[in-house]
Amino acid sequence: MARYTGPVCRLCRREGMKLFLKGEKCLTKCTFERRSSPPGMHQQRRRKVSDFALQLREKQKARRIYGVLERQMKNTFEQAAEIKGATGEVMLQNLERRLDNTVYRSGFGKSRSQARQLVAHAHIKVNGKITKTPSYQVKAGDLITVRESSRDSNYFKEMLAWAKTQTRPGWLETDPENFSAKVLSVPTRDQIEAQVNTQLIVEHYSR
Ligand code: SF4
Repeated sequence: MARYTGPVCRLCRREGMKLFLKGEKCLTKCTFERRSSPPGMHQQRRRKVSDFALQLREKQKARRIYGVLERQMKNTFEQAAEIKGATGEVMLQNLERRLDNTVYRSGFGKSRSQARQLVAHAHIKVNGKITKTPSYQVKAGDLITVRESSRDSNYFKEMLAWAKTQTRPGWLETDPENFSAKVLSVPTRDQIEAQVNTQLIVEHYSR
């Protein structure tokens, strides 16, 4: 399971916005708020930004928000392109329906990377079955639960308190006391918090 392991605050500086990749720390001790210049030794020169650069940055931003590598991102785009509907929107829905993202949005992880680790370490069940695939696509009616033997751990005790303070999207019905979340429907665009211009991403992959 390949993933980016470098410094994540650098990614926010690169994209010029807070991507909220470090959970609680992003709310209390954000590096980007102290230093927002792009990474690298040289000051950015003022220059006209090409269409390609705009499209590339938007794609990279989405990729970094959801913590997926280029190959996974391209696959997500190609799968979305085969489905009827607006490709950009379907692609974003598919990213949002990833199991690691669903666990994060349910409040059982403070960041997507933490949620991804919970999934990979077999703490999460889908419809009563342990699922260790972060890219698993949840669908309406799926029940996401924390494995019974994990619930008494200090991590999940702390997470229970955290989950109760979080606002959940309308496509999920969460029950923190019972460590569960039910998928009510496929997320709609307005229920997805990621601020990305999907049209630019479609243009990037359609070149
Ligand atoms: Fe980005 Fe969070 Fe780091 Fe701030 S603390 S720069 S939002 S990853």
